[in-house]
Amino acid sequence: MAIKELFEGAIYLHGGRPYLSRKLDLEKMEAQVEPMDRAVEEYTSALSNKSAEVVEELASRECLGHKISFGKVHIAEEVYGFLVKDIFGATRIAEHTFETPYLYEYDTYALWIDLDDMVYDIPEFGDGLHAFEHVSISMMPAITGADPKELGGLSHPSGRMYVYDSVPDGNGVTQVVFSKFEKIVQMSKDRLEKCDCEKGCPKCILDPSCGNDNRFLNKESGKLIAEKLLKG
Ligand SMILES: [Zn+2]
Ligand SMILES: [Zn+2]
Repeated sequence: MAIKELFEGAIYLHGGRPYLSRKLDLEKMEAQVEPMDRAVEEYTSALSNKSAEVVEELASRECLGHKISFGKVHIAEEVYGFLVKDIFGATRIAEHTFETPYLYEYDTYALWIDLDDMVYDIPEFGDGLHAFEHVSISMMPAITGADPKELGGLSHPSGRMYVYDSVPDGNGVTQVVFSKFEKIVQMSKDRLEKCDCEKGCPKCILDPSCGNDNRFLNKESGKLIAEKLLKG
């Protein structure tokens, strides 16, 4: 969490008090923060990239006409900058890019599913898969008891979606979800259908920890992906 919440320049809330991060040293595993002696009207949000690489597939099965797998993966997360946003309207005040990004790499466990057969059938498929990834991760705590922060997600416009345990060596959450993914798809479809927002809201596809600041999302296409999966 530190690279996403304690990078240099981050405003960090602790016990209701705002602190400004002066330095984050990943080698020493140390962050230097100082209390902010004014009322803060802004917050910071990390901009990040990540990649996943399969180390070993440990199990796979058929899920709604598609192959779903579970196994060991290597995750590389990079925080390359951050946004400063207005606390009231969430409008962007500033954007910063680091000279040297913060890098964090680890091995953990993940599930992945390939939906490459849908790429040309669903309009704006990549944004739809990103939306489906967000909503499905937000449904997972209900069947696992985990906190959403214990999971990470990654979707490729070419059709593969990963959900991984977001700690080194895993926490067991995606292993549970692997065997219940059909239920997650059904819950995701229900949520997208019932949420009466127009283009997405925090109750459906908006995720506060999205490394893309919730850009590149398409609620309607995400719903089509869930529907098409359930028909399979
Ligand atoms: Zn909504
Ligand atoms: Zn996202």
